Amino acid sequence: MRFARYLPLALAFLITGCEQGSDPAEPVKSAESPASATATAGTGMDAIDAESYRPRVKTLASDEFEGRAPFTEGEKKTIEFLREEFAGAGLQPGNGDSWYQEVPLVEITATETSAVFESDVERPLELGEDSVIWTKRVTDEVELSDSEVVFVGYGIVAPEYDWNDYEGLDVAGKTVVMLVNDPGYATQDAKLFNGNAMTYYGRWTYKYEEAARQGAAGAIVIHETGPAGYPFEVVTGGWTGPQFDLVAPDKNFSRPVIEGWINSKLAEEIFASAAITLNDARREALHADFQPRALPLTLSARITNTYRTSTSNNVVGLLPGTDAADEYVIYMAHWDHMGRDPSLEGDQIFNGAVDNATGTAALIEIAEAFATMDPPPRRSIVFAAVTAEESGLLGSRHYGTNPIYPLQQTVAGINMDGLNVHGRTRDVAVVGMGHSELEHYLERAARRQDRTIVAEPTPEKGFFYRSDHFNLAKQGVPVLYAESGFDYRDGGAARGAELAKDWIANRYHKVGDEYREDWDFSGAIEDIQLYYMIGRELAAGDDWPEWFASSEFRAIREASLGATR
Ligand SMILES: [Zn+2]
Repeated sequence: MRFARYLPLALAFLITGCEQGSDPAEPVKSAESPASATATAGTGMDAIDAESYRPRVKTLASDEFEGRAPFTEGEKKTIEFLREEFAGAGLQPGNGDSWYQEVPLVEITATETSAVFESDVERPLELGEDSVIWTKRVTDEVELSDSEVVFVGYGIVAPEYDWNDYEGLDVAGKTVVMLVNDPGYATQDAKLFNGNAMTYYGRWTYKYEEAARQGAAGAIVIHETGPAGYPFEVVTGGWTGPQFDLVAPDKNFSRPVIEGWINSKLAEEIFASAAITLNDARREALHADFQPRALPLTLSARITNTYRTSTSNNVVGLLPGTDAADEYVIYMAHWDHMGRDPSLEGDQIFNGAVDNATGTAALIEIAEAFATMDPPPRRSIVFAAVTAEESGLLGSRHYGTNPIYPLQQTVAGINMDGLNVHGRTRDVAVVGMGHSELEHYLERAARRQDRTIVAEPTPEKGFFYRSDHFNLAKQGVPVLYAESGFDYRDGGAARGAELAKDWIANRYHKVGDEYREDWDFSGAIEDIQLYYMIGRELAAGDDWPEWFASSEFRAIREASLGATR
């Protein structure tokens, strides 16, 4: 994903979360001057250096790897490279005697789609204009006939907030219509959900999952640019053309027959049938005692699909621990990117150098550090280079639902997605600040580099739910996802803002995300060392960091640990 770091807005949100100076820890030599690390193979943290890191990033981002799209020659080259590098770093195969975990994927392409709301009059959906619909069911054709439409507010069931938008409602055969984001964002009330910061209940992915659990036949989210975090064109663009998913044993027949988005203009029209406005509906939905509201109309829809299945691969390596080898710390980074687009003039390759050759190469650096540290880690360290992040976090989702190492034995996870190639910063930004005690580990490690931790600038956009670590969080494993900050030691916050603009305009998910010889890796090296220090502390001790009480993942973890202890 790799989006949050460079937003200029960040500057306005800097906070100082660090108890500076209260615990002056021993300065760490190699962290103090990462750029000066030498090419001689160091041990432990000294193994993490730019001399070994640079060629790895360069290789992964080379044209030869063709933008690392799943199922392509680029995948073959990438996973073979990772196997060799993991083995060379001293890891063992992470999946029995294999380095690979197969990820079965299905590619679904809708060939014909039609849908209509009916009351006294018919209102056909103008697909791609005011709406998009799809089916996750892996089948040639689905049909929904005269499904009753119910407005279910935010479509949230959250016991910890004493909130149930489906209370007393049977939605079997019906189509639920719901708002995006959550009541905390809508009211900016810090006491409601997590205030401005999005909770998982606010993510559209959650809303379809909950509708499926409730047994709804149709699930429609109302798009609004503010609470969604992006304009409607992003929705229509994202849901047009072939769609990837994991191959589920039930072929996704537990999902609603149809899922989709409508824009707020169409929402106004369908609410008008019940003589309310979108505003009124929104207001009703803000209260815990909200009652679902049946709308006097039905939805009919028909979708025909073609689909094909293929297999991609997560690459997994293991460094066994000593006396606590059955407890695990996992490092994750997605190896995939967007491949090539033959319709482009000139450069056709999306090299994905920052996104995410930098994170993938960092896995190898950290593997070398752990493999050479003395004494070796008590707990085992797992390195997972996962596939198909750019298609919807699919490789990590597959790992989360088919874990190689038991998740209740997995102490914590650290994700890396898009490292800093422009030099050192004074800060570190936490994506999803306020979720778990791993922030304390980060803060301690950052202090040793004379850095402070800050919150990501736009928590309302829900970036915490938009990269691979989230699939571990969803299973209860505490995870950390951080990024280099915004305040550059050379050039300060002004330079951070400038780099932000350039990233969004010229590089993010574009062919311009290419390796450059003039990149300064000192910031990336410092960050990789930071992630290593956190894992080292976790792996040497017997702590089980917890989710904070306010996190929506705490209950999942408690249930998971309670089942085994
Ligand atoms: Zn990414």
